[in-house]
Amino acid sequence: MSQIDPAIQDLIGDIDYDPAALNQRYAYERDVRLRPERNKQYIETTAEFSHYADDPYVEPIERDALNDHVEIIIIGGGMGGLMVGAQLRQAGSDDIRIIEKGGDFGGTWYWNRYPGIRCDTESFVYLPMIERTGKMPSEKYVRGSEIHAHLLHIARTFDLYRNACLQTGVTGMNWDEAQARWHIHTDRGDHMTARFVVLSNGLLVKPKLPGIPGIETYKGHTFHTSRWDFEYTGGDEKGGLHGLSDKTVGIIGTGATGVQVIPPVGECAQHLYVFQRTPAAVDYRANEPTDSEWAGSLKPGWQQERVDNFNHVTTGRQIDNDLVNDKFSETGRLRDAAWAAAKLGRPLSEEEQNLIIETLDDKMMNRLRARIDAEVKDPATAEALKPWHRRWCKRPLFSDNYLPTFNRPNVTLVDTAGQGIERMTETGVVVAGKDYQVDCLIFATGFETGTEFTHRAGYDIVGRDGLELSAYWKDGMKTFHGMFARGFPNCLIMGSGQGASAVAYSFPLQEQAKHAAHVIGEAKKRDARTVEPTAQAVEDYLAEVKPMSVSQRKFWVECTPSYMNDEGGSGNRHGFYANAHPAGTIDFYRMLSAWREKNALTELEFR
Ligand code: NDP
Repeated sequence: MSQIDPAIQDLIGDIDYDPAALNQRYAYERDVRLRPERNKQYIETTAEFSHYADDPYVEPIERDALNDHVEIIIIGGGMGGLMVGAQLRQAGSDDIRIIEKGGDFGGTWYWNRYPGIRCDTESFVYLPMIERTGKMPSEKYVRGSEIHAHLLHIARTFDLYRNACLQTGVTGMNWDEAQARWHIHTDRGDHMTARFVVLSNGLLVKPKLPGIPGIETYKGHTFHTSRWDFEYTGGDEKGGLHGLSDKTVGIIGTGATGVQVIPPVGECAQHLYVFQRTPAAVDYRANEPTDSEWAGSLKPGWQQERVDNFNHVTTGRQIDNDLVNDKFSETGRLRDAAWAAAKLGRPLSEEEQNLIIETLDDKMMNRLRARIDAEVKDPATAEALKPWHRRWCKRPLFSDNYLPTFNRPNVTLVDTAGQGIERMTETGVVVAGKDYQVDCLIFATGFETGTEFTHRAGYDIVGRDGLELSAYWKDGMKTFHGMFARGFPNCLIMGSGQGASAVAYSFPLQEQAKHAAHVIGEAKKRDARTVEPTAQAVEDYLAEVKPMSVSQRKFWVECTPSYMNDEGGSGNRHGFYANAHPAGTIDFYRMLSAWREKNALTELEFR
C-alpha cells in the first residue's frame, strides 16, 4: 500500500516490528506441522480403544426394551436437545422423549468434568435462559459443574426427564412412508416410532486419540479428559487430586482443554510432563465473582441484549459499548474490519481491511508472546511456549494460571518442535529419542471433526425410498437452512452445518430450537402428515451456501493445522467450517427469524 490513510494509521498505531519476518515464521511453523494424513492421523475411540469413550460417571442401569410410539423424539440431551425440548414444551407439546447416551442430560457439560473446567466465554452470555430460570451465574466464567447444574435445572423446569431414555444410544432410524413415522432402534433393543425426530447429536462429541505409534502398547494408566477418572486421581473439578501425589503424569494436548487442566494437575502430581506439539496462545482471563448489585440492577431483556452485543463484538461489527468487555470480545476486531469502516465512516478496500486486521493480530500475538517472557521464569521454557500463528487459527484461549504452572519445579514442558510424540512404549513416551517414564498418561487431544455427519452421530438415517443420509450427504450436507433435508420428512437437524455458528455456541442452539419448534408447530396446525423442504428450496439454498470465499480460504490455508482448518487442508466438505452460510452469525439467525415471522414457509412442502 503506497500511502496509509492517517485515520487508519491512527487505528493500527505504529508498526514497530517486521511483518514480513513474522509472516515467514508463521509459514515455517505451519509447514513443519502439516501432515499428509490430515484428520486421518487421529485414532478413533472404537474397537480396542472403545473403552476411552465409556461413561465413567454412572453405574449402568438395566431396563426392559421399549416398543412404543411418541409424537416427538429428540436424539441427544445436551444443550441443543434441551433447548428444543424447552421450546416445544412452551409451545404446548406434551408427548416428547429425549434419548441420551450419557447417564444424565448436559452433553458436553455431562462428559467434560476434568479439573479446572470452566466456561470459556462469559457465563452471562453462554448460560441459556438465565432470566427465565432466575439462576444468575456465580462468576464471570463459572465452573463446568455450575453449567451442568443449570442445564439440569432447565430439564426439570420443562419436565424433560419425563419419558426420557438415558444411557441409551440410537443405532439407526428409518422412515415409514405408509405410516408417516420414523422407526428408531437403540442399543438397548428398543424399537420406538415417532412422528417427528429432532437430531441434536452435538458438535465436539467423540473423543479422539493422537496417532502415536505404539499407543496400544502403553501399560500405564490412561484416559481422555472428557472421561476423567476421578477414582484414580481423587479430587474434583476444583483440584485436590491427591491420587496423583506419588505419580509421574504426562498430559498430551495444549488446546482449550489442556490449558484448563494442566494447572490443577501440575499442583497435585509428583511430577507432570506436558507434551506440547503446538504452543497455546493464552490471554488474560480475569475471572471475578458476580457483582450482586450489578445483577440486581439488570432490566428485563438484559440477557438477549448482552448476547446480541457479544455477537456483534465477536464478529467484528462494533467495538464500542462492549458489554462483556473481556479479552475474548477484544479478539472480535480481528475477525472483520466492519467496526473500522463504521469508525471511519467509509467502506474499506480489501487491502485496507487486511492491513488493519493483520496488524492488530500481529500486535495481539506479540503481546501474548511478551506475556510469556514476563510470566515464565526459565527463558528456554518461555521460548518454547511461544505460539507462532494468527489468533483465530485456533480457539482463542484465556487463563491466568496456565503459564505460571511452568515455573513449578515439578512441571516440565517437553516441546516436540511441532512433530508430536515420536512413539509410546509400555512405560512411557519417547520424544526426540528420549524416553519419559510416566505412571499415567492423560489425553487432552480433543474430539473428532471433519468426518461425515452420520459417522460422528454413530448411526445412519434411512429416509424415503431407502435413501441413506450417509450416501445422500457423501459429498457434503444438502439442506434447507441447515436443518431440513429432502427425502427425510419430519426430521429436523440441529448443529451449525450449512448455517452459522457463534463464539458462544449456546446462541445458535437456542435459535435453531425456535426454528425446529416453529416448523413442528406449523405442521401440526396445518394438519400435515409430513413436512420436508422442496427440491427447489434445497437447490436454491445450496447455491446460497457457497464454499468459502477466496480470502477466507487463504486465511485458513495459511493457518497452523487444527480441527478448525481440517488439519491444514480447509477443503474438506465435512469440515468444521465447511459451507457456513455467508450471512454470518447475526444476519443468518435474523433471516431465520424473519422467515418464521412471515410464516409463508413456501420452501417447505406440507403434505
Ligand atoms: P483440541 O483439538 O483443541 O486440542 C488437541 C490438542 O492435542 C492440541 O494441542 C494438539 O496439538 C494435541 N495433539 C494432538 N495430537 C497430538 C500428538 N500426536 N502429539 C502431541 N500432541 C497432540 O482439543 P480440546 O479438547 O483442547 O478443545 C476442543 C474444543 O472444545 C475447543 O476448541 C473448544 O471449542 C471446546 N472446549 C471448550 C471449553 C470451554 O468452553 N470451557 C473447554 C475445552 C474445550 P496441535 O495443536 O499441534 O494439533
